[in-house]
Amino acid sequence: MEATVVKHTGSHYLLSALPEWNLFPAVLRGKIRLKGSSATNPVAVGDRVRYEFSPQAVPSDKSGGNDASWKEVPTEQNPAVITGILPRRNYVIRRSTNLSRQSHIIAANVDRAYIVVTIDFPEVKLPFLDRLLVTCEVYNVPVTIVLNKSDLYGEEHRGRVEAFHSIYEGAGYPVMDVSAVTGMGIDALRDACKGAVSLFSGVSGVGKSSLIRALDPSLDPKVGEISDAHLQGKHTTTFYEMYRLASGGFIIDTPGIRGFGLVDLAREEIALYFPEMLKASEGCRFTPCTHTHEPGCAVKAAVEDGSISYERYSSYLGMLEDESKYR
Ligand code: GDP
Ligand code: ZN
Repeated sequence: MEATVVKHTGSHYLLSALPEWNLFPAVLRGKIRLKGSSATNPVAVGDRVRYEFSPQAVPSDKSGGNDASWKEVPTEQNPAVITGILPRRNYVIRRSTNLSRQSHIIAANVDRAYIVVTIDFPEVKLPFLDRLLVTCEVYNVPVTIVLNKSDLYGEEHRGRVEAFHSIYEGAGYPVMDVSAVTGMGIDALRDACKGAVSLFSGVSGVGKSSLIRALDPSLDPKVGEISDAHLQGKHTTTFYEMYRLASGGFIIDTPGIRGFGLVDLAREEIALYFPEMLKASEGCRFTPCTHTHEPGCAVKAAVEDGSISYERYSSYLGMLEDESKYR
């Protein structure tokens, strides 16, 4: 039998055969290890797993007569047993600490990541957003950028909102304008989440929790959230959970200051994960081309004629420089 992991706490799992939402407890049998993985959790939320279950005979009444009935569904006392993991389409990880080689898998088989940002209050940091986008490209997770707090952007923000759209739509990422407070754009976001597993990420303060509550008022992501201060530097004990939206679809929240972990790439790999640069680089005279000093570089030409944004290109240069520092 097969089901999806919807919650993971220590050695216990809750499974459901999606799209139904009938949760039942399960445990891992023995050691399921993924080849070559240094992850602290071999099975993650979103994983499709194979499981076994043997109904247990239980006395039908307290007097303990020989008249036993069968418990047909897994219970805490008699959980299902996870026996294998089906191949993953993708997964998103978080490093326990910056230097650690150990990682924690936040979620597997994600259909789309929604990165929540704000033009102001707090001001979005484009180099950080670009790193997150690169990470999603590496993980092979499609992204939609959600621009929240639209109700706060008046005339003085107009230019920045328009520039933001042009930079990211130009790079190939959909950008949705929403407001968790007024409800603007929430129906569109709810529709987009239908029939899919969506990962929500964003630095704290952008209104990610408010958005999730706006999508489905019965959800409250802040309940049970572990404060980030406790997480920093420690072996991570955050447990991730999938929620069902009443309107259809499933979401996974990524609590914490930074959302999810960033990846390290070799210098020559970085440009492969800026989709617009990858496309333009077909025209570069040299392969490989770092798009910095090489003559006949089509990426630099595209930045000069404005078809690749200068902001995205500077983020790329920043990432190149960071990589060089460690070498
Ligand atoms: P999180 O840290 O990303 O989960 O952010 P919260 O959902 O806790 O929101 C942070 C603050 O922003 C709270 O004071 C919210 O009331 C406020 N907020 C969230 N969404 C919006 C919005 O769309 N418009 C306005 N004006 N404030 C918002
Ligand atoms: Zn080039």
